[in-house]
Amino acid sequence: MVKIPEVYEAPKKNPRKIYPVINYFRCVFCYRCVSVCPVNAYVTSNVYELASTSPINSMELSLSTLKKKGEAGAAEK
Ligand code: SF4
Repeated sequence: MVKIPEVYEAPKKNPRKIYPVINYFRCVFCYRCVSVCPVNAYVTSNVYELASTSPINSMELSLSTLKKKGEAGAAEK
């Protein structure tokens, strides 16, 4: 868990402004974290990209599910 950086819009349902970060170098996509999370913090999707021409940063990748402040349609969750 990390504190959501200021550049991201914290969802209204998240008053503590903390967010799960997955280490994608260790994750085996077993989905156990999804099934056991008591607050349903994880959202799954069939949309993914595992190849990149730039270095992968697990924190950036995890936080990319949040909208950045000032983006159109910023979080009204
Ligand atoms: S519980 Fe499974 S899916 Fe979740 S982060 Fe760990 S290895 Fe990945």
